Amino acid sequence: MEYSGEIERVLIDEKQIAQRIGEVAKQIDADCAGKMPIVICILKGSLVFCADLIRAMKTPVTLEFMKVSSYGASTTSSGKLSVSLDILSNIEGKDILIVEDIIDSGHTMYALKEMLKTRRPASLRIVTLLDKPARRVSPVTADYTCFEIEDEFVIGYGLDYAERYRDLPYVGILSRSVYEN
Ligand code: 5GP
Ligand code: MG
Repeated sequence: MEYSGEIERVLIDEKQIAQRIGEVAKQIDADCAGKMPIVICILKGSLVFCADLIRAMKTPVTLEFMKVSSYGASTTSSGKLSVSLDILSNIEGKDILIVEDIIDSGHTMYALKEMLKTRRPASLRIVTLLDKPARRVSPVTADYTCFEIEDEFVIGYGLDYAERYRDLPYVGILSRSVYEN
Protein backbone atom coordinates (compact mmCIF):
# COMPACT_ATOMS: atom_id res chain seq x y z
CA MET A 1 0.00 0.00 0.00
CA GLU A 2 1.40 3.31 -1.13
CA TYR A 3 0.41 5.19 2.01
CA SER A 4 1.93 2.82 4.56
CA GLY A 5 4.15 4.72 6.93
CA GLU A 6 1.92 7.77 6.63
CA ILE A 7 -0.97 6.12 8.48
CA GLU A 8 -0.51 5.69 12.21
CA ARG A 9 -3.49 3.39 12.61
CA VAL A 10 -6.83 2.32 11.24
CA LEU A 11 -9.67 3.72 13.36
CA ILE A 12 -12.65 2.18 11.51
CA ASP A 13 -12.00 -0.56 8.97
CA GLU A 14 -13.86 -1.35 5.74
CA LYS A 15 -15.91 -4.13 7.29
CA GLN A 16 -17.08 -1.99 10.20
CA ILE A 17 -18.00 0.85 7.83
CA ALA A 18 -20.00 -1.42 5.51
CA GLN A 19 -21.84 -3.07 8.39
CA ARG A 20 -22.77 0.22 10.05
CA ILE A 21 -23.87 1.79 6.76
CA GLY A 22 -26.17 -1.21 6.28
CA GLU A 23 -27.77 -0.56 9.68
CA VAL A 24 -28.18 3.16 9.11
CA ALA A 25 -29.55 2.58 5.59
CA LYS A 26 -32.27 0.39 7.13
CA GLN A 27 -33.23 3.14 9.60
CA ILE A 28 -33.41 5.70 6.81
CA ASP A 29 -35.47 3.31 4.66
CA ALA A 30 -37.92 2.84 7.52
CA ASP A 31 -38.25 6.61 8.04
CA CYS A 32 -38.56 7.36 4.32
CA ALA A 33 -41.15 4.71 3.47
CA GLY A 34 -43.24 5.84 0.52
CA LYS A 35 -41.02 8.86 -0.14
CA MET A 36 -38.36 9.69 -2.68
CA PRO A 37 -35.96 12.02 -0.89
CA ILE A 38 -33.46 14.30 -2.53
CA VAL A 39 -30.04 13.25 -1.28
CA ILE A 40 -27.62 16.19 -1.08
CA CYS A 41 -24.04 14.96 -1.08
CA ILE A 42 -21.72 17.54 0.47
CA LEU A 43 -18.52 17.63 -1.57
CA LYS A 44 -15.85 16.56 -1.47
CA GLY A 45 -15.60 14.62 1.78
CA SER A 46 -18.98 12.86 1.58
CA LEU A 47 -18.57 11.40 -1.89
CA VAL A 48 -17.40 7.93 -0.86
CA PHE A 49 -19.86 7.63 2.04
CA CYS A 50 -22.76 8.86 -0.09
CA ALA A 51 -21.97 6.41 -2.89
CA ASP A 52 -22.08 3.49 -0.45
CA LEU A 53 -25.08 4.78 1.51
CA ILE A 54 -27.45 5.29 -1.43
CA ARG A 55 -26.62 1.80 -2.70
CA ALA A 56 -27.25 0.29 0.74
CA MET A 57 -30.63 2.08 0.95
CA LYS A 58 -33.67 0.56 -0.71
CA THR A 59 -35.47 3.90 -0.86
CA PRO A 60 -35.31 5.44 -4.33
CA VAL A 61 -33.59 8.83 -4.26
CA THR A 62 -32.50 11.62 -6.53
CA LEU A 63 -28.99 12.95 -6.09
CA GLU A 64 -27.66 16.49 -5.84
CA PHE A 65 -24.31 17.95 -4.86
CA MET A 66 -23.33 20.99 -2.85
CA LYS A 67 -19.98 22.35 -1.86
CA VAL A 68 -20.05 24.43 1.30
CA SER A 69 -17.79 25.56 4.09
CA SER A 70 -18.17 27.74 7.13
CA TYR A 71 -15.91 30.64 7.86
CA GLY A 72 -15.46 33.25 10.52
CA ALA A 73 -14.51 31.93 13.94
CA SER A 74 -17.86 32.90 15.38
CA THR A 75 -18.36 32.66 19.09
CA THR A 76 -22.12 32.56 18.50
CA SER A 77 -23.87 29.74 16.71
CA SER A 78 -24.32 31.81 13.54
CA GLY A 79 -21.29 30.70 11.55
CA LYS A 80 -21.25 32.20 8.06
CA LEU A 81 -21.76 29.81 5.21
CA SER A 82 -19.79 29.93 1.99
CA VAL A 83 -21.54 28.06 -0.84
CA SER A 84 -19.26 27.36 -3.80
CA LEU A 85 -21.61 24.89 -5.49
CA ASP A 86 -25.38 25.05 -5.00
CA ILE A 87 -28.23 22.83 -6.14
CA LEU A 88 -30.31 24.11 -9.03
CA SER A 89 -33.52 22.26 -8.28
CA ASN A 90 -36.37 23.69 -6.24
CA ILE A 91 -36.61 21.82 -2.93
CA GLU A 92 -39.84 23.41 -1.70
CA GLY A 93 -42.12 20.68 -0.38
CA LYS A 94 -39.47 17.99 -0.93
CA ASP A 95 -37.89 15.60 1.56
CA ILE A 96 -34.19 16.32 1.90
CA LEU A 97 -31.43 14.10 3.22
CA ILE A 98 -28.09 15.88 3.67
CA VAL A 99 -25.15 13.49 3.56
CA GLU A 100 -22.10 14.79 5.47
CA ASP A 101 -18.71 13.25 6.18
CA ILE A 102 -18.07 14.62 9.65
CA ILE A 103 -19.62 17.05 12.12
CA ASP A 104 -16.99 18.78 14.20
CA SER A 105 -17.79 22.25 15.61
CA GLY A 106 -21.15 21.95 13.86
CA HIS A 107 -20.82 25.40 12.22
CA THR A 108 -21.09 24.05 8.68
CA MET A 109 -24.14 21.84 9.23
CA TYR A 110 -25.91 24.38 11.41
CA ALA A 111 -25.52 27.14 8.83
CA LEU A 112 -26.39 24.85 5.92
CA LYS A 113 -29.50 23.59 7.66
CA GLU A 114 -30.67 27.14 8.42
CA MET A 115 -30.06 28.20 4.82
CA LEU A 116 -31.91 25.21 3.33
CA LYS A 117 -34.84 25.69 5.74
CA THR A 118 -35.52 29.07 4.10
CA ARG A 119 -36.25 27.13 0.89
CA ARG A 120 -39.14 25.42 2.69
CA PRO A 121 -38.50 21.70 2.18
CA ALA A 122 -41.15 19.29 3.58
CA SER A 123 -38.46 17.68 5.74
CA LEU A 124 -34.74 18.11 6.27
CA ARG A 125 -32.61 15.36 7.77
CA ILE A 126 -28.88 14.95 8.22
CA VAL A 127 -26.92 11.73 8.04
CA THR A 128 -23.26 11.86 8.98
CA LEU A 129 -20.55 9.25 8.76
CA LEU A 130 -18.65 10.65 11.73
CA ASP A 131 -19.45 12.87 14.68
CA LYS A 132 -17.09 14.47 17.18
CA PRO A 133 -19.62 15.50 19.86
CA ALA A 134 -16.88 16.75 22.20
CA ARG A 135 -16.03 19.50 19.71
CA ARG A 136 -19.54 20.84 19.18
CA VAL A 137 -20.06 24.61 19.31
CA SER A 138 -23.10 25.16 17.06
CA PRO A 139 -26.30 23.45 18.19
CA VAL A 140 -26.77 20.81 15.53
CA THR A 141 -27.36 17.08 15.80
CA ALA A 142 -27.47 14.59 12.97
CA ASP A 143 -30.60 12.50 12.60
CA TYR A 144 -28.40 9.51 11.79
CA THR A 145 -24.78 9.04 12.89
CA CYS A 146 -22.69 6.09 11.80
CA PHE A 147 -19.84 6.56 14.28
CA GLU A 148 -19.06 8.89 17.16
CA ILE A 149 -15.32 9.44 17.48
CA GLU A 150 -12.92 11.13 19.88
CA ASP A 151 -11.35 14.51 19.18
CA GLU A 152 -8.76 13.24 16.70
CA PHE A 153 -8.06 14.33 13.14
CA VAL A 154 -9.10 11.53 10.78
CA ILE A 155 -8.53 10.88 7.09
CA GLY A 156 -9.65 8.32 4.53
CA TYR A 157 -12.98 7.13 3.12
CA GLY A 158 -13.49 10.54 1.53
CA LEU A 159 -11.83 12.67 4.20
CA ASP A 160 -8.61 14.47 3.32
CA TYR A 161 -5.53 16.06 4.69
CA ALA A 162 -4.35 18.67 2.13
CA GLU A 163 -6.53 16.90 -0.49
CA ARG A 164 -4.80 13.56 0.04
CA TYR A 165 -5.96 10.24 1.51
CA ARG A 166 -9.58 10.51 0.30
CA ASP A 167 -9.07 7.26 -1.62
CA LEU A 168 -8.30 5.14 1.44
CA PRO A 169 -11.03 2.51 2.00
CA TYR A 170 -10.95 2.99 5.80
CA VAL A 171 -10.97 5.84 8.34
CA GLY A 172 -7.56 6.30 9.89
CA ILE A 173 -5.26 8.50 11.90
CA LEU A 174 -2.27 10.14 10.21
CA SER A 175 1.27 9.70 11.45
CA ARG A 176 2.79 12.77 13.10
CA SER A 177 5.55 12.71 10.51
CA VAL A 178 3.05 13.80 7.84
CA TYR A 179 2.22 17.06 9.63
CA GLU A 180 5.83 17.69 10.56
CA ASN A 181 7.10 17.43 6.96
P1 5GP B 1 -17.50 21.90 11.34
O1 5GP B 1 -18.15 23.06 10.65
O2 5GP B 1 -18.48 20.91 11.89
O3 5GP B 1 -16.50 22.33 12.37
O4 5GP B 1 -16.59 21.24 10.27
C1 5GP B 1 -16.93 20.22 9.49
C2 5GP B 1 -15.90 20.09 8.39
O5 5GP B 1 -14.56 20.19 8.91
C3 5GP B 1 -16.00 18.73 7.77
O6 5GP B 1 -16.91 18.71 6.71
C4 5GP B 1 -14.56 18.48 7.34
O7 5GP B 1 -14.34 19.05 6.07
C5 5GP B 1 -13.72 19.22 8.35
N1 5GP B 1 -13.22 18.32 9.41
C6 5GP B 1 -13.56 18.35 10.72
N2 5GP B 1 -12.91 17.39 11.40
C7 5GP B 1 -12.17 16.72 10.51
C8 5GP B 1 -11.29 15.59 10.60
O8 5GP B 1 -11.03 14.98 11.66
N3 5GP B 1 -10.69 15.18 9.44
C9 5GP B 1 -10.92 15.80 8.24
N4 5GP B 1 -10.28 15.30 7.18
N5 5GP B 1 -11.75 16.86 8.12
C10 5GP B 1 -12.37 17.30 9.24
MG1 MG C 1 -15.98 18.98 4.59
